Amino acid sequence: MNLNQGNSVTIKRICILGGGTAGWMTAAGLSNKFKLLDIDIQLVESDQIGTVGVGEATLPHIRFFNNALGIDEREFMRETSATFKLGIEFCDWGRLGDSYIHPFGDYGEPIEGVDFHHFWLRLLQNGHKNRLDDYSFPILAAEAGKFQLPGKDNSKIGSNFGYAYQFDSSLYAKFLRRYCEAGGVRRTEGKAVDTILSPETGFVESVTLDDGTIISADLFIDCSGFRGVLIEQALETGYDDWSEWLPCNRAVAVPSEARGKSLPYTRATARKAGWQWRIPLQHRTGNGHVYWNEYISDDEAAHQLTSTLEGPALADVKQLYFKTGKRRKLWNKNVVAIGLSGGFLEPLESTSIHLIQEGITALIELFPDAVCDERDADEYNRRMDLNFDRVRDFLLLHYVATQRDDSEMWRYFRNMTLPDSLIEKLEAWTTRGYILRYEHGVFLPPSWVAVMAGQNLMPSTYDRRADALTFDDILSKTEQIRSESFAAVSRTADHADFIKSYGAQTSVVPLTATAP
Ligand SMILES: Cc1cc2nc3c(=O)[nH]c(=O)nc-3n(C[C@H](O)[C@H](O)[C@H](O)COP(=O)(O)OP(=O)(O)OC[C@H]3O[C@@H](n4cnc5c(N)ncnc54)[C@H](O)[C@@H]3O)c2cc1C
Repeated sequence: MNLNQGNSVTIKRICILGGGTAGWMTAAGLSNKFKLLDIDIQLVESDQIGTVGVGEATLPHIRFFNNALGIDEREFMRETSATFKLGIEFCDWGRLGDSYIHPFGDYGEPIEGVDFHHFWLRLLQNGHKNRLDDYSFPILAAEAGKFQLPGKDNSKIGSNFGYAYQFDSSLYAKFLRRYCEAGGVRRTEGKAVDTILSPETGFVESVTLDDGTIISADLFIDCSGFRGVLIEQALETGYDDWSEWLPCNRAVAVPSEARGKSLPYTRATARKAGWQWRIPLQHRTGNGHVYWNEYISDDEAAHQLTSTLEGPALADVKQLYFKTGKRRKLWNKNVVAIGLSGGFLEPLESTSIHLIQEGITALIELFPDAVCDERDADEYNRRMDLNFDRVRDFLLLHYVATQRDDSEMWRYFRNMTLPDSLIEKLEAWTTRGYILRYEHGVFLPPSWVAVMAGQNLMPSTYDRRADALTFDDILSKTEQIRSESFAAVSRTADHADFIKSYGAQTSVVPLTATAP
């Protein structure tokens, strides 16, 4: 065996280029994990360039990120104008007029080791009409506009569910900046205008700012957004374009005055050439329309958005352009791309901030020495590729598990060639109600069940083991879960009241130019 046991040169300086959500999350994660080590972390950002300024809905995993940083949830809620999120409501996806919620939690609970939905399918196939949703506490609470923190006793309904946040991402970046600066991260204002590469290794040696300052480091984290200043402009890593599968390539966004009941969920409404989001925060509602410009003009897309706002707009409509896909390598030489610089899949399931978190976690686990062994980079890229692939398939599922054919876009999805990984998943479900489990990937079986059943893609049969119980047994077990779920919701606080008692804003947050 030929192991390289030469002298390892430890990393002493890290430069993070970019101060959006990705840059400050990375700075917070690294500075927290490496606080006892002699590593200098410097973040460079340019006010002149600004941030993308959207990204308000999250997945439950962000709680673990905040917890690991020692962030107090109440303070976080207050400082970022956050609301709680129990899932996403999808309107008009299966058929016009349909709606369902993809919850952060299981349906019912397994019976004799068999997933609950098989018993529901057996009931359904025997004429029973209860919705699968009636066995999900987070769905019922969301529908009632209620929220509580999960109880401590996992055996009780009302305990076993996840939740995430909807927040103002520019405030989150500011919040993390304070955290990072208190922890010793140095922030430099300036625009990177040049990059010096080592002639021997091709590694990035330094970036030059517009005022002539030269910033050298051993490791560079590219958080420069869609530009990919280091990973692409300097290293020319290449991009895997996934427009064939996720063709939506533009968005318009605008915040509006909050109106009506405060809802603990995000809404995604399908449109003729894309879909529209509605994200309720404490002080306003975030709205956006993601679309494929092949089938709708920018003006029409903006009109669709502004004509369906629930309250007056609070800013001008912001236009965004993107190409779905990912960098061929998210870690290339001594540059790791985290955030939009690494790739972007559309925001339908609020996965971007989660992918940032995955990138930070993998980087900490595989943290290199200054040589940046290619094998560490390969492992990082393998893991992140899997994460991106899984998210891509799950997003695509929403567009293909549908009966809609009322516009060019929906007809396009009817005729597309799917990735093999998604075909496998769909076949296992439609033939026997089975969800193939992945070793990696953020979306667990209940999420797949939610979307497939919610969009009327039903299996022809269920797990045979569900026949081992008598019909009456199944009826009584499922009915107990259903009635306990409704009872738990009736005891749950109104979402707005809960926020008020827990983390309401103390002052009105001024709108920033880049909001939402
Ligand atoms: C339409 C849309 C909706 C979205 N919705 C969601 C959502 O609901 N949930 C979710 O999780 N994610 C969402 N996202 C994604 C989310 O916005 C991003 O993942 C997140 O904001 C991170 O962005 P970023 O920090 O990578 O890039 P940016 O916000 O673009 O930040 C880039 C940073 O790099 C700096 N920079 C760039 N070039 C230079 C340079 N030359 N010199 C110095 N500094 C430089 C900029 O100043 C800035 O600080 C959405 C994205 C889009 C486009």
